[in-house]
Order: sequence, then structure tokens, then C-alpha cells
Amino acid sequence: MTGRDAGTVAGRVPLAGRWARPGVRRRTTVGDVVATYLPDGYVQLEPARWFSLPDAGPVAEHPDLLDAHGHLVASIGVLLLEGPGWRLLVDAGLGPAHVPASATHASLGVMVGGGLVEHAGEIGAVDAVVVTHAHDDHVGWARAGWPGFAGLARVPHLVGAGERAPSGWGVLRDGDEVVPGVRVLATPGHTHGHVSLVVDGGAGRLLVAGDVLHSPVQVPHPGLGSCFDVDPGASARSRARVLAELAVPGTVGAVTHFADVPFGVVRDGRWVPLPDGD
Ligand SMILES: [Zn+2]
Repeated sequence: MTGRDAGTVAGRVPLAGRWARPGVRRRTTVGDVVATYLPDGYVQLEPARWFSLPDAGPVAEHPDLLDAHGHLVASIGVLLLEGPGWRLLVDAGLGPAHVPASATHASLGVMVGGGLVEHAGEIGAVDAVVVTHAHDDHVGWARAGWPGFAGLARVPHLVGAGERAPSGWGVLRDGDEVVPGVRVLATPGHTHGHVSLVVDGGAGRLLVAGDVLHSPVQVPHPGLGSCFDVDPGASARSRARVLAELAVPGTVGAVTHFADVPFGVVRDGRWVPLPDGD
């Protein structure tokens, strides 16, 4: 895999455009761990409804985050994590689906999945699939039985305790070590069993946030929570916890819903995207 693909080409697009468009393949290296974002699709989020606000509120101060329809762009995709002697897939996308606007919830515009199968060869064989939570845009391909992904249906699938997961999936608890250097951080609130991951790369660490965050606007405005949070208080505490961890020097964040800026660091209370890794 040379990386001379859409991700590299797209890297030539000015950064400004990346805040409001679906993500493409992106890669970053943290010590001895390589993290690759692989896209499945995207969903448009109507900002006022998504954050349960009377109007766009603080989002209006960040017009660069909005697409031509005034929506935040939440990418849908997975993370491939590769460390010494192990490979993990985090999340399972939406799967092959095209959901029209408002078909499911007033806060959502168009929701599209299916692109991940183009990356099946790169995903290849993994030791496990870790699912941050059991929402449709994170379990889609797994529920569909991974058609087009050789062997993935037989790989162990792991999800946080308290999630409504398919039978046969393994259960993760706070502090569990999934593979050497990859620990579970329980971050309930968006769902009861939501988990994040802290990946120790030796020289630096990677924090996989999951749906603790949906938009870079929540970094300077951590009081903004999703209308889908089952426990808004717990969600706010998990967001504060994750943002505090991201502010620790040497920590890279991975947030799959962050448009085309999935890898970044938190600096001065803002999300600063990393340059392309390869
Ligand atoms: Zn999600």
C-alpha cells in the first residue's frame, strides 16, 4: 500500500475545504502504531437540532464547518490500527445503505454508507473488531455479515459492557487491554456502554474518541452534546474527560465523524488537524 490514492490527492485541497466534506483515506503514525482512517460514507447533521439548540448557536461562528445546505458533515468510517504484531479494526461503518433526509430523524440529512468495501483489501486480516458503540453507523457492515470482506465475519467482535450488541460478541470493560498497548476507556453517555481507546505507541499516544465528539465545534464548545445522547450528564463528563486527555502533550486524537479532519491535536482549545502521514 503506497498511499498514492485519493487521500494523498485530496491532501492538496486547501485545508479549509476539509472541514465540511466527507472524509477520505487518511493515515497518521504515533510511535510504533499506524492509524488509518478508511471512509464508508457520511451523514449530514442539522446543527440546531443535533445539538438541541434554539438556533445554530456557537456553530454560526464556524461557517467553515457547514456544507452548502447548512449542515455539519459527519463522516462515517472506520479506523485500522496496526501495532507491533497486531492489527485492529475499530467500528464497522453504516454498510451498504442510502438513507434519504429526514427518513429517520429530523436532525439528520442524507446518510450514505457502502464505500468501505473498496478498502477491504487494505483491511485484510485483523485480530479483532472493536465497536465503540452499537449505533447503525458503527455496526452496519458487521450486522450485514461483512459481505465482500474475506474472513471478517469470523473475527472476534468486541463492544462495551451495557451495549445492545449481537449475540456472541465479546464484552469490554474500563481498563481492559485489547492487545498490548491498547486500553479501553469507558466513556458512557452517548450510549450506556460507549467506549473509547487509548493507544500507547511508545513515543506518543493515540486517543480514539468514538462518538464522545461529533464535530470539531465541540472542542471550543464542550457544552454541546448530541440529541442522541442517552445520558446527557454522563456524555458531558465523558466529553470533558476525553478533551482533557487530548490536551495532554504527545496525544493525537482520532475522531471518525470529524468531516475530512479525523486526525488532530487539541491546542489552545481548538482542533488542529494533522498533516497527511503518507
Ligand atoms: Zn456515530
